Formats: sequence, structure tokens, C-alpha cells
Amino acid sequence: MEIPGFKHIYSGKVRELYAPLDSDFDHLVLIVASDRVSAFDHIHTPDIPGKGTNLTAVTNWWFDNLDISNHRSDELEVPEIVAGRAMIAKRLEMFPVECVVRGYLTGTGFIEYQESGTVCGIELPAGLANGDRLPYPIFTPAFKAPQGAHDENISFEQVIELVGKEVAEELRDLSVGIFLKASELAAKKGLILADTKFEFGNNPRSNVITLGDEVLTPDSSRYWDKELWEKGVRDQSFDKQIVRNWLLENWDRQSAPPELPAEIVQQTATRYEELAERLSRE
Ligand code: ATP
Ligand code: MG
Repeated sequence: MEIPGFKHIYSGKVRELYAPLDSDFDHLVLIVASDRVSAFDHIHTPDIPGKGTNLTAVTNWWFDNLDISNHRSDELEVPEIVAGRAMIAKRLEMFPVECVVRGYLTGTGFIEYQESGTVCGIELPAGLANGDRLPYPIFTPAFKAPQGAHDENISFEQVIELVGKEVAEELRDLSVGIFLKASELAAKKGLILADTKFEFGNNPRSNVITLGDEVLTPDSSRYWDKELWEKGVRDQSFDKQIVRNWLLENWDRQSAPPELPAEIVQQTATRYEELAERLSRE
């Protein structure tokens, strides 16, 4: 897409990055969230209507409600043609680490736990069941592989090798701290934050480690309804789990992925919408 005053610089799986043409603003970047849905390292068709807008609304809500140095900037306005689904951000030097925090045992974490009693190598108490709350949130980083490649879990020692001890410790402490605060706020909305992934970068102008990317969205996090969880429901989700489940049953993961049926697209769109609405509700 052409955006007046900007040039396209990067395509991610879900977002497009643009740089301002005016060199006075080359410390900024425009991040546009598309409606694309990625699962199992593929982008699927068709798009999920409203997804980009909801992702942006959720990230904005968290930036408004979390007192943490983040990349959002008001130095330029979001251009009209991408209004609602884009953000002007400080351009950061991103660390190649996905800062994953898990507060509950689920997904691939639960599979590993059943085999070895650990999650990403971290030993956990015995006797935990799928969907249980962990005694404390754990930091389980992944290496952010270059475009196209598969992200892979790494140990804290490997994070130190990548970014140095001081930065590694700061990334871990920031991640766990934000997770705890966000969990508290989510609980007030009747939501459980089961796990999430943050990305941080260095702001080259201030040398401050800054929270970037999307934050606490359904693409980067697992949210559950607290009331349902308390009743014992362990298979709910506000994210693209609906898409993943359908793909698991209808795709061999070797051939080109099949087109998502209309009802799966609709259900997924509704889930994204619902989360944005529940967070912003007073
Ligand atoms: P990638 O394509 O990089 O492997 P991805 O598919 O997750 O990852 P998207 O999330 O679609 O990519 O695009 C967002 C990209 O922008 C990511 O590479 C992210 O690290 C990067 N990014 C996020 N915030 C900033 C920022 N403030 N400055 C520079 N880059 C950023
Ligand atoms: Mg991303």
C-alpha cells in the first residue's frame, strides 16, 4: 500500500513498517497492522476482518494503562488512510529475543511438562494439570529468528550470550514485572492472562530499553475468561486458537494451506473484537 509521506521499509507476517520521508523524523516508524492471520508459520487466507484495528486498539489500551517506557510517539499523526490500525512509534534497535512469560501451564508448555516435568527447561512442581496456574510466572525466552525462519526457545544463558548479562536481566525483570501488573488489570476485566510475549528494543536516542511491537494482544498472548476457568473450562481462548484447531484437522501442514471457511473467519473475528471490547469496557 502507498502511504503519502512515508516509504515502505519492512513486511512482517502481520505488520507493515513505513519510514517517514521527512528526515527530521527518521527516528520514527509507522507500524500498520494488517488483517492477516498467521498460524504454524504460514499466513492464511482470507484475512480476518477488523483484526488489525482490534490489535492496535488493544496495544493502545495497554500503553495507556501500563506505566512503562514504550515505543508509542505522538510526534507525527497516523495518516488518515490507516487510521485506527496503525501507530507512530520510536524506531528501536530490536533485541533478537522474544520475551515470553507464562503464568499458566498450557499449550506446548504442558506437552513438555508431561514428558519431563519442565517448561523450557525450567523445573516445576509435580502434579500440575493442563491449564493450572504456575506457582510464579516464568520467563521462557525464544530467539527471534530472521524473517521466514522458525523462532526457537533458548535458555537464559543463551539470552546473556546474545545481549549481555545486564540487558538480559533487565529484559527478564521488565517482562515478568509487566506480566504481573497486566495480570492484575486483566483480572479486573474478568480475564486471565495465561501467557504472553514481549519484544523490546534499545531507543538509540536515549539508550533506554523500551517496550516495542504489539503488546498483550490476542496474537501475542493467551487470554481466558476467568469465570469459565474457575468453573474448570480449560480449552477456551480469545486468540487464533480457532484457526489453529481447524488447521490441525483440515491440513497436513505439507501442502499449501487450505482456504479458511467463512464460519471460522467469522468466529475468529468475533473473538478479537470481544477482547478489545472487554478491555476497554469500564
Ligand atoms: P518478522 O517478520 O520480523 O520475523 P513478525 O512476523 O512477528 O516477525 P510483524 O509482527 O508482522 O513481524 O512485524 C513487526 C516487526 O516490527 C517485527 O519485526 C518487530 O520486531 C518490529 N518492530 C516492532 N516495533 C518496532 C519499533 N519500535 N522499531 C523497530 N522495529 C519494530
Ligand atoms: Mg510479530
